[in-house]
Amino acid sequence: MRDQPEGRPVLSCPACAKATLEPWKDSATGLEIDCCSECRGFWFDGEELSRLFPSQELFSRVFRLELDALTPEPGGERGCPRCLKALKLTRALEVEIDVCRHCRGIWLDAGELLLLVRSYPGRHEGDLMVLNQLASGLASAESQQAALRTLLEVLGQNE
Ligand SMILES: [Zn+2]
Ligand SMILES: [Zn+2]
Repeated sequence: MRDQPEGRPVLSCPACAKATLEPWKDSATGLEIDCCSECRGFWFDGEELSRLFPSQELFSRVFRLELDALTPEPGGERGCPRCLKALKLTRALEVEIDVCRHCRGIWLDAGELLLLVRSYPGRHEGDLMVLNQLASGLASAESQQAALRTLLEVLGQNE
């Protein structure tokens, strides 16, 4: 295990278990999310998913990784990296997502954020815990446009 600054606990990846999550920080907003460099999934505590969209730096970094994402091994039971309770499988915008009902964290496997943002302009059906964060993150027209601009920019660079 690595030393963590300021006593930050080491989080294990819920998908690959042996890997630990690496903190990714936005220098402008201070938002810090956790990324697995093995399977390229992301962990969002509390309201962090909604805070991702206004964070230009992290949002484009996440999308760059999303685009060449690996398909994760279909795992068995997944545990919450934060509170260690079992993650529950839920659905939002037709995407299957693991969430923790205890600490309200959200785990997105590689590629799932891209699917969510792409499907967002359509019907808003599914898990409210996830949808509310998408809605508040993409609430303003500016943040929706910024998200789409980043998406197109990243897509353009990968062609
Ligand atoms: Zn992983
Ligand atoms: Zn939890």
